[in-house]
Amino acid sequence: MSAPLENSPFPPSPVQPALLEGDRTIRFQCRKGIGCWNACCSNIDIALTPYDILRLKSRLGLSSTEFLRDYTVPYEMEKDGIAGVKLRSVEGGTACRFMTPEGCGVYADRPTACRYYPVALLAMRKQGEATDSSAYALVKEAHCLGHEEPRAFTIDQYREEQGLPEYDALAHGWRELILKKKSSGPTVGKPSRRSLELFFMTCYDLDRFRAFVASDGFSAVYDVPAAELKAILEDDVMLMTFGFRFLRQVLFGEASIPMRGEAVGERRARLAEKNRRLEREAAARMAQDEDLE
Ligand code: SF4
Ligand code: SF4
Repeated sequence: MSAPLENSPFPPSPVQPALLEGDRTIRFQCRKGIGCWNACCSNIDIALTPYDILRLKSRLGLSSTEFLRDYTVPYEMEKDGIAGVKLRSVEGGTACRFMTPEGCGVYADRPTACRYYPVALLAMRKQGEATDSSAYALVKEAHCLGHEEPRAFTIDQYREEQGLPEYDALAHGWRELILKKKSSGPTVGKPSRRSLELFFMTCYDLDRFRAFVASDGFSAVYDVPAAELKAILEDDVMLMTFGFRFLRQVLFGEASIPMRGEAVGERRARLAEKNRRLEREAAARMAQDEDLE
């Protein structure tokens, strides 16, 4: 384990530097009555997955648009890149709005990050590999007394206990999009404002995405059989995973959803124009660099 850098201006991170596999045994227990009860929910920084939003908005009986407006704040995952969504704390404070004296007020539908704590999931794509892999790290914050409890278990057992296989499986398509965007870097060019807006709506504002998929404009471009479309529109989870498929097409040009003939021609023309524009911009940048030398 590495020691914190001497004279570092930053406080030491509570995330332990060792990468852990799922079969690693850890010691931890969170229980009502422990001296730090609710301390972790009093100062939150919780990023939400699309499935977290789906579960919470359904529990609260809100549309996704209402949930996003009232319970979240957007943030930028990377410069010029795609947006994420975090849980908003109480007005003027840092505590979670779902915290109650008895514990989590939305326990059965609590977000992925709350389920994982004090384990952090690290989704990664190794260089040269097409698929992502997961590793874990332990988060040890001074206020959390759960690490002093004697209960031992593997991370895999902890994930099962916390219902995480389901949460991770349903966030997989979203994590893949983010990793792919990060690993493709400038080769796919800076995403257009429209594609960033589509990403936000599709991943987080599911009810608005449903209206978009149900529109005549969508059916004029995409060739989804009527029975499949009906099933997708009636089921939030199917709609969410269909959204990830749709974004692979919009952001990375994968042929993940069949398109109607005319739309294919128009799309090819648009892609050709985009490639010509990227080439022109690259040539202009090179010429500018040469002038400066
Ligand atoms: S959602 Fe529940 S577990 Fe997560 S921070 Fe809020 S109160 Fe705590
Ligand atoms: S700080 Fe740790 S032990 Fe205390 S309530 Fe939160 S997770 Fe449980």
